[in-house]
Amino acid sequence: MVASTGFSVAIAGAGLSGLCLAQYLVRAGIDVHVYERDPGPFVRRQGYRIILDRHGLGALRESLPRRLYDLALTTGDEPGGQLRFTDRRLRDAFTITFKDEPHATRQVDRLTLRSILQCGLNGRVHYGKDAVAVDSGPAGLRLRFSDGGAAAATVVVGADGVGSALRAQLMPDAEPTNTPLAGIYGRSPLRRNGESVIPDALRTSGVLAIANQPGRAFFFTSMRFGESPQEAFARLAPGNYAPTGYDYVMWGLLLRREDVPIGVRGDLLELWRLASRMSADFHPLIRRLVGTAELDATVLNLFAAGRRPLRWAVPRATMMGDAVHVMPPFGAHGGNTALRDAALLGRKLVEARANGTPVEQAIADYQDEMARYAFRAVDTAARLMRRLTGGGAAPHWVLTRVLPRLHRVTVPEA
Ligand SMILES: Cc1cc2nc3c(=O)[nH]c(=O)nc-3n(C[C@H](O)[C@H](O)[C@H](O)COP(=O)(O)OP(=O)(O)OC[C@H]3O[C@@H](n4cnc5c(N)ncnc54)[C@H](O)[C@@H]3O)c2cc1C
Repeated sequence: MVASTGFSVAIAGAGLSGLCLAQYLVRAGIDVHVYERDPGPFVRRQGYRIILDRHGLGALRESLPRRLYDLALTTGDEPGGQLRFTDRRLRDAFTITFKDEPHATRQVDRLTLRSILQCGLNGRVHYGKDAVAVDSGPAGLRLRFSDGGAAAATVVVGADGVGSALRAQLMPDAEPTNTPLAGIYGRSPLRRNGESVIPDALRTSGVLAIANQPGRAFFFTSMRFGESPQEAFARLAPGNYAPTGYDYVMWGLLLRREDVPIGVRGDLLELWRLASRMSADFHPLIRRLVGTAELDATVLNLFAAGRRPLRWAVPRATMMGDAVHVMPPFGAHGGNTALRDAALLGRKLVEARANGTPVEQAIADYQDEMARYAFRAVDTAARLMRRLTGGGAAPHWVLTRVLPRLHRVTVPEA
């Protein structure tokens, strides 16, 4: 570890990218503090799993101490598996198979990953700190909070997610655009009376069941922890908290934004009722998943797509993750791209400190490289969303009416 010499970084947002960058910088001996709006680390259930691909895993490997990276892998689901595209009755249209290798794509529980990312950051993550603006002056930058307080730093990083309070100031003219679609996400127990509710044929599959009417689909996948998080934390990060540990099914009903009345958007029970009504003509397995949902894990996500920033307005202040390049959740790129940003920015800052490159140059290099891969991912996710949910009539008809007739029935309707 290198001793820090007056250089400091303040990060707004203790989500995936903010915590990953903090890990990177702490390992390099850089003074870093993270300011999070939530009053505590586990106040929101954030009860879903995310798929980590080679970019997300690569960023974690580069940023975390080895034992924390191992903790993420060992508590994750087994690598490999399939993503099946089916009609609403779960008849296969086509399937993508993932590689089954030690560092290949795998699912991890988001809450568990967030807990892993906090290990070792003692005293560096400050809760109840709602960032509102960045002041710059001759003495450097100050990240200001809604409670009137402020934190001084050499570099400020906005990692405050899709609803970023800093974006309008740091990246004027880059407000995300709304898409026509939304998702109501939920979580249901994987086992009932000791038996898996997911049939063996779908054990290692994520499934996107596409409805006949354009703009409607249902996604589900089971999250099976590898090693029990309680045991793995005790072994690899003793004294840290394993927030959960039981296997579950994560599901999401995709629908048109206009199908979600404004009045139900903040009401979990009404959102769940809407999901039940809108999934009534899907396969009975899907209806059972919605019927057994844990109400407090219900989440509404109105899909948006980030816009490429034309200019960065505050020198030495930059942004990462969804705050810059939110994307519809098709292709599982959002979190992976956010983690990739964190490792890239960490690397640029650490290299600049080592070889004397001006920090402004390091940040500009990060922004150029990030914008190239991140907005490619935004475009890919938006294109996938249109194709799979009926943006083009012909592909939708082939997916829902033609291809399923060519395949056997994978899950009979019992
Ligand atoms: C249901 C669902 C499934 C998904 N599945 C996948 C997947 O499989 N793979 C994948 O790669 N991605 C997935 N994503 C996307 C992924 O979750 C996001 O892209 C990722 O979390 C973005 O990370 P981030 O660090 O930018 O923001 P976040 O993780 O959202 O963190 C932002 C943090 O900033 C805090 N904050 C907000 N405002 C302020 C403020 N003013 N001051 C201080 N703190 C603030 C928030 O409370 C939060 O903690 C999924 C998303 C959803 C909704």
